[in-house]
Amino acid sequence: MTKKITIAIDGFSSTGKSTIAKQLAKELGYIYVDTGAMYRAVTLYAMQQNLISKNHFNTTELIDDLSSISISFVFNPSLGYAEVYLNGTNVEKEIRTIEVSKLVSKVATISEIRKKLVSEQQNMGKNKGVVMDGRDIGTVVFPNAELKLFMTASADKRAKRRYKELVDRGDRVNYEEILHNVQERDRIDSTRADSPLVVAEDAIEFDNSDMGLKEQFERILNLVKTHALT
Ligand code: C5P
Repeated sequence: MTKKITIAIDGFSSTGKSTIAKQLAKELGYIYVDTGAMYRAVTLYAMQQNLISKNHFNTTELIDDLSSISISFVFNPSLGYAEVYLNGTNVEKEIRTIEVSKLVSKVATISEIRKKLVSEQQNMGKNKGVVMDGRDIGTVVFPNAELKLFMTASADKRAKRRYKELVDRGDRVNYEEILHNVQERDRIDSTRADSPLVVAEDAIEFDNSDMGLKEQFERILNLVKTHALT
């Protein structure tokens, strides 16, 4: 497989997009970009500056601050993937907390923020050979991507996966809270005015509620092979 392509993976929250994307990138020698991590990093910045909490959101000040928010990815060889840095600090762990998850979809509705992050994402993928996951990759960031996947799974299955991930790393969370968060993010992400989460016309839908990781990976790898050869 010599021709490098762009692979866009979109879908609902906690559908295992990043697990598949990381695996694919490793297998193909492609760059992996977790765009959700970028929206999470901006949210963490807003929390640190007291610009957002459950009941308030100072959008004007956050927009004014955008030029001083720098997000980068640094490959960690022992993990085999890139970790996210906010203004030079590794924030990979902090951005995955339930507190960030509860606020990130609000932050992601702001057009000025989307504009900045989309332009950075387009720049990271300009030479192809990239697997990017998010909500608007196949519709807005790379509408000409050679392969577009759209992942779904039942809300219950997704909440269970996310719950296990958080408990495994030692976070104190309850299942109901996670289920509510997953559903609430899907609702906000699908109904926002700017770049809502929709299935791109030419995306291949993947319901992985009852599919093991191995089977899923093999199926997707086959799709990559056909799309990279045509
Ligand atoms: O992928 P992840 O669940 O980490 O994304 C966190 C949130 O970031 C999403 O719920 C969504 O609000 C936002 N997001 C987005 N566009 C993307 C990626 C993520 O709006 N391309």
